[in-house]
Amino acid sequence: MHIVYFVVPCFNEEEALSETNRRLLIKLGQLVDSGRADEKSRILYVDDGSRDRTWDIIMGFHSECASVCGLKLAHNAGHQNALLAGLMTAREYADCAISLDADLQDDIEVIDEFIDQYNRGCEVVYGVRNKRETDTFFKRVTAQGFYKVMKHLGVDIIYNHADYRLMGKSALDALRDYKEVNLFLRGIVPLIGYKSGIVYYNRSERQAGESKYPFKKMISFALDGITSFSVKPLRIISNLGILISFLSIIGILYALISYLAGVAVPGWTAIVASIWLLGGIQLLCIGVVGGYIGKIYSEVKSRPRYNIEEFID
Ligand code: UDP
Ligand code: MG
Repeated sequence: MHIVYFVVPCFNEEEALSETNRRLLIKLGQLVDSGRADEKSRILYVDDGSRDRTWDIIMGFHSECASVCGLKLAHNAGHQNALLAGLMTAREYADCAISLDADLQDDIEVIDEFIDQYNRGCEVVYGVRNKRETDTFFKRVTAQGFYKVMKHLGVDIIYNHADYRLMGKSALDALRDYKEVNLFLRGIVPLIGYKSGIVYYNRSERQAGESKYPFKKMISFALDGITSFSVKPLRIISNLGILISFLSIIGILYALISYLAGVAVPGWTAIVASIWLLGGIQLLCIGVVGGYIGKIYSEVKSRPRYNIEEFID
């Protein structure tokens, strides 16, 4: 039987935690009873430098019940980093880890299906949202737009999947080798490879407390996702440069013809021609420089170039 760890990042979640813990313990009990999880399975709360009583509450859970453990980060490292800290800790004890938010917006009843798919050989199981009816119109449009832009920029992410997923030990081991600092887990996990599965679920409202992702954080998270996975924006500059250089030839011809036809004010031709040509050349040069920066950028990340799934000796 598998040792399953629930990894729950918490930032100022004092209002939500007791209900979350109650429901997760029930779920864990069910998993153990149905033979899906070993008794050594745990709920691992990661306190992401909370400024309220979150850590005291977690310690309270731990003293009441041995299946609860906690990890406290020294400062607010952010959701993705907190999640990684939890997963890397779970990796040492567990066969698989399931990451979920402390507000239990993600339906925990599908965890059984997560584990069943894991038993059928899926090393990663993605939780994917069915509908977005509990979101505001604004969040729905921006979030879906984001997934589309990412796809367009050539980033392989699972549509409507956030950070609700199961990862087996091999996937966690592989994840450890992705050393990048700007962490965007939902972009990295598909890169790891391995057989994966999808489980659909409905997302409900946050049960207590308020969102820890205000609009500003959401935007910077989205931009991080794009710039950490795609150098296409740099290529767009190059293409723009080529286009404008080409247009400048037409502009110069036009200016020359006006000059020869005698309809141009003296001096106009030279000014217009140089503005066009220089503008295009400058953009093109920035694009070339950008191309090299893009290379440096991907080298500096030193991501692993492959992950071995199996080795037959
Ligand atoms: N979280 C965290 N560190 C942060 C911000 C958020 O650990 O700096 C946790 C938070 O406690 C929650 C999860 O990340 O468990 C998702 O946050 P939230 O539910 O507020 O995001 P939303 O569902 O509104 O996108
Ligand atoms: Mg939430």
